[in-house]
Amino acid sequence: MLTKVDHIGIAVNSIDEAVPFYENVLGLKCENIEEVPSQKVKTAFFALGEVHLELLEPTSPDSPIAKFLEKKGPGVHHIAYRSNDVQKQLETATAAGCKLINETPIEGAGGKKVAFLHPKSTFGVLSEFCSEKQ
Ligand code: ZN
Repeated sequence: MLTKVDHIGIAVNSIDEAVPFYENVLGLKCENIEEVPSQKVKTAFFALGEVHLELLEPTSPDSPIAKFLEKKGPGVHHIAYRSNDVQKQLETATAAGCKLINETPIEGAGGKKVAFLHPKSTFGVLSEFCSEKQ
């Protein structure tokens, strides 16, 4: 079951360049900067009420974020839905004929289990399921 929008992912060329906008203009606080090797990204998280913003910077030219930036430039990259059972969400999506990017959950930022659905199956929105913080 989905319980909330966990975070919104935003692709940036440089976290160092983007953080001052979120801190100084929007008045948010950068809570954590972390590298996520499984996705070849560096992430920065900002809390805003119940939802977080996740900035994503590629750490390698073959990172999915590098490819996204090349094609579309910086901008909204994905919406992450918190789920109490990521594996079951994937099974439901598969049964409905959705194309998955991750057949099984992978290690995401903050030690969460995450999995992505292909935007072709989600009306153009790259969608992530993520677990509670472990
Ligand atoms: Zn995410």
